[in-house]
Amino acid sequence: MYRTHTCGELRLTDAGKTVTLSGWVQRVRKMGGMTFIDLRDRYGITQLVFNQETDAALCDRANKMGREFVLQATGTVGERFSKNDKMPTGDIEITVTELRVLNEALTPPFTIEEHTDGGDDLRMKYRYLDLRREPVRRNLELRHKFCLETRRYLDSEGFLEIETPVLVGSTPEGARDFIVPSRMNPGSFYALPQSPQTLKQLLMVAGMDKYFQIVKCFRDEDLRADRQPEFTQIDCEMSFVEQDDIIRVFEGLTKHLFRTVRGTDLGDTPFLRLSWEECMRRFGSDKPDMRFGMEFVELADVLKGTGDFGVFNSAAYIGGICVPGCASYTRKQLDELTAFVRSPQIGAKGLVYARVADDGTVKSSVDKFYSPETLAALKEKMQATAGDLILIMSGDEANRTRKQLCELRLLMGGRLGLRDKNKFALLWVVDFPMFEWSDEQQRLMAMHHPFTAPKPEDVPLLDTDPASVKANAYDMVCNGVEVGGGSIRIHDAVLQAKIFDILGFTPEQAQAQFGFLMNAFKYGAPPHGGLAYGLDRFVSLFAGLDSIRDVIAFPKNNAGRDVMLDAPAPVAQAQLDELQIALAPAEPQQP
Ligand code: ASP
Repeated sequence: MYRTHTCGELRLTDAGKTVTLSGWVQRVRKMGGMTFIDLRDRYGITQLVFNQETDAALCDRANKMGREFVLQATGTVGERFSKNDKMPTGDIEITVTELRVLNEALTPPFTIEEHTDGGDDLRMKYRYLDLRREPVRRNLELRHKFCLETRRYLDSEGFLEIETPVLVGSTPEGARDFIVPSRMNPGSFYALPQSPQTLKQLLMVAGMDKYFQIVKCFRDEDLRADRQPEFTQIDCEMSFVEQDDIIRVFEGLTKHLFRTVRGTDLGDTPFLRLSWEECMRRFGSDKPDMRFGMEFVELADVLKGTGDFGVFNSAAYIGGICVPGCASYTRKQLDELTAFVRSPQIGAKGLVYARVADDGTVKSSVDKFYSPETLAALKEKMQATAGDLILIMSGDEANRTRKQLCELRLLMGGRLGLRDKNKFALLWVVDFPMFEWSDEQQRLMAMHHPFTAPKPEDVPLLDTDPASVKANAYDMVCNGVEVGGGSIRIHDAVLQAKIFDILGFTPEQAQAQFGFLMNAFKYGAPPHGGLAYGLDRFVSLFAGLDSIRDVIAFPKNNAGRDVMLDAPAPVAQAQLDELQIALAPAEPQQP
């Protein structure tokens, strides 16, 4: 028997017991005639003690144990002389009588501590050592609990967990596919699912009624802190439902997860619902952070054509936010804000500001163009009071400017400490547009995905003004992060064909790529709809983390590489030959 207890288990009530523990050496300390070893496993740390006077040979051996050696120690539980109230086992220690080295260890390349000295790359290369660190391990425990409670809740609601294949055909969700060559079908490729979208719809045609799956999805797109090439969804689909039915079930799941996994009671009131249009108008985002106000105020009626400021006079949109308590910002601080909105990521032309002084007067960067009355009207419209800083942006395309102003709002919210990670503001964003125009592709694209149903009352507009059609689609947003999204689906082959047509597919292309789905719809497809949560994102929100990497056991870096496995990597010529794949000659290197 390797152990009788774990390293996190023993308490003062166990005093006097003979126990055996196994684990890793966290640290070895020599103090006077005593040697202490902190022994660690997944469950905690227990102090082992060796006494030079009572057993010199054993104590000498203990002194030679290096960090991360794997040990088995047998001894007696005793009360500690100097207790440590920071650890659950801090009242006891084990006076060791037998010590066995189960495995030696090289000195780890970084410290295995709560705060390590290891940089990101090093930690990822030795991720198995990084995972020994308590904060990283805690994230995986949280993720486990999250999955478990998801299964528990959805099972209680009658959902079946059904696996779908990973080697499939293309499942368009707006990203590039990862493709896998088929040896048995030379020249043909599988695509890894961007999501099980079409498969879960087929499960509805199959009468499964309520499906879910905790499932890997693969999207070949540029990576950011909250994106990985493979990520996990809680994917769900239901039959004979409308939007309200889905919202009810998944609001229930969300509240259940908050309560059971995080101990946060979100109360009985339903989540707020806002239309996409209202979100854009008030917050410049389809995933507004509702932990704080600073809502947009449209200012064209006050500032357009009322002074000599050409920028505003020719703008299609002028909007402002009122930042409390920041009227004292220095010129330098304001220049920094201007540089921020002008940065390439945001791309705005500039920023206008107005300060409300203690006596209530307004001083702005465009004073010379406007009368004091107009500035007073600005203050009035913004409902600004003494000490407020008004920040104004304008542009010739309303939604583009709103998105830029949104970045500024988020920055200022963060600076004022209003984006507290322990506070949660959830809402549903509904009534998304069905399509969005792509400049790059010069065509309408599905805003959610091509299987999303239009609002029934908008169906006639598909022929006359498709760009104005609204979709039966919804997103769940938490603290400015889209945690989930879904839609009511099209279940009619004719309507589906029409959407493919609007999206620029010829009937032949649509048939070749989605014939299986349109065909299935001819065999009695029930009305259905669903949604998917981004599991990694949701768990990282629970953990208060900015990056989803920290909740994934073996994540990839920003270049999509697994630096531990050194993947992706070239393969042997023989493997390529078998697949009948020839690589293009490498591009000549630039000198
Ligand atoms: N398949 C969708 C996605 O991955 C979710 C859904 O519509 O159910 O975003």
